[in-house]
Amino acid sequence: MSDVLVLNSTYEPLNVTSIARAVRLIFAGKAEVLHDRGRIASPTIEFPLPSIVRMLYFIRHRKKRVALTKKNVLLRDDYACAYCGKRGDRSTMTVDHVVPRRQGGRSEWTNLVAACVECNGRKRDRTPLQAQMPLRRKPHEPRYIPFFVVRRNTERDEWIKYLTLYSVSIEQRLT
Ligand SMILES: [Zn+2]
Repeated sequence: MSDVLVLNSTYEPLNVTSIARAVRLIFAGKAEVLHDRGRIASPTIEFPLPSIVRMLYFIRHRKKRVALTKKNVLLRDDYACAYCGKRGDRSTMTVDHVVPRRQGGRSEWTNLVAACVECNGRKRDRTPLQAQMPLRRKPHEPRYIPFFVVRRNTERDEWIKYLTLYSVSIEQRLT
């Protein structure tokens, strides 16, 4: 694990970056180290190995969009079937068009959900209403904060504090 959590000057998580990039930010005077994991020492220089850095000035949020891919839809839905709630993984879960393509349903965040193979097969080319399979939650386009990346790193104890400052749960951040 050599990723670094970058916080805005307001302590809001911004993104996850590499050690090299975080160190450049620190040397450029743009960020400070909030948490380190020991120190890097060389004959000429010694500095903390950052785990969390904080920007010293406010970064305006740019509206980036999360790429619409099967992987990201499954991550957004946490690999849980939108119809029965059963959990799977990337190999066992499918992505279902809520309103089927044959009925004019588009491939967009609000019309795509994770579905288990059984539910997807049972629903076929029908809407949830036609199939009498109500959605357990309404699909949203996720906001771009790299929580997909963060989720893979949640074992980092020191990150949790800052992530939870801004979110009750990661899943809620995605709505
Ligand atoms: Zn299901």
